[in-house]
Amino acid sequence: MDKPPLAPGLYIVATPIGNLGDITARAADVIARCDVIACEDTRVTGKLLNHLGIRKAMRRYDDHASAEVRERLLGEMAEKSVVLVSDAGTPLISDPGYRLVREARERGLAVTSLPGPSALTVALTLAGLPTDRFLFAGFLPSKDKARGDVLGELAATPATLVFYETGPRLVASLTAMAQHLPGRELAVARELTKLHEECRSGTPEELIAHYTAHPPKGEIVLLAGPPPEPAAPQADDVDALLRAALAQASPSQAAGQVAKAHGLDRKALYARAMALKAEP
Ligand code: SAM
Repeated sequence: MDKPPLAPGLYIVATPIGNLGDITARAADVIARCDVIACEDTRVTGKLLNHLGIRKAMRRYDDHASAEVRERLLGEMAEKSVVLVSDAGTPLISDPGYRLVREARERGLAVTSLPGPSALTVALTLAGLPTDRFLFAGFLPSKDKARGDVLGELAATPATLVFYETGPRLVASLTAMAQHLPGRELAVARELTKLHEECRSGTPEELIAHYTAHPPKGEIVLLAGPPPEPAAPQADDVDALLRAALAQASPSQAAGQVAKAHGLDRKALYARAMALKAEP
């Protein structure tokens, strides 16, 4: 029995990042049943449709598209099911779609998103770096000064940093990381889900040496582990910190300040602050 037509609205659909086998059953079903596909490049999406054995009306769309193109798509969404795909992976993740989704939501149109592949999540799960907190920063700027400024801004962020990268720029980015993120564990995740998939970890210097000798081909995600935890202060240092704080604050406040600044136990610091205050 034929499935019922899809309800009108916008369907954001993730597609494979290299291995066509990664299309989800739901993505294939929605692509097969939709009325229209909005895509970055009709040739690229045409290949995916060929693989799925589907023919569909396609509209070229990116966030620089004219207001009329966007308006036409938004108009269609009120009566038809419109699928948004990008060339690969999850739309809107360093890919077009943000403006379209925003306007569709503002107009009260139905919007839903079908999860699937993204180089971001594949790289994160593969790199063996902490994933409890991460910051995705898209592509680094290509000019040295701007790239250094961005890395300088992010250096203190207590999270794994994730960047999209290209082969020709990899060594320059690693060199900037050696300067701005010294001592951090890095990972280069390359050609994910494809035949020559690779994930290589190391210090910036190790990776610079490797990729200078073996210029990388293909698509790349570059990750940097979080900054190292600051070493816990020694007992003498703790006393000095508490004495300095006690000059301006009560034992309870001093303990709170030092605990917050150095990640130490507030109760123990309070007991020590009381003892220091009682010293002649
Ligand atoms: N929306 C896509 C996603 O969800 O992954 C990303 C699109 S962005 C324009 C393209 C960048 O994603 C590439 O330059 C590369 O940094 C990364 N990328 C995409 N596919 C990849 C793959 N198979 N392996 C490694 N990185 C990939």
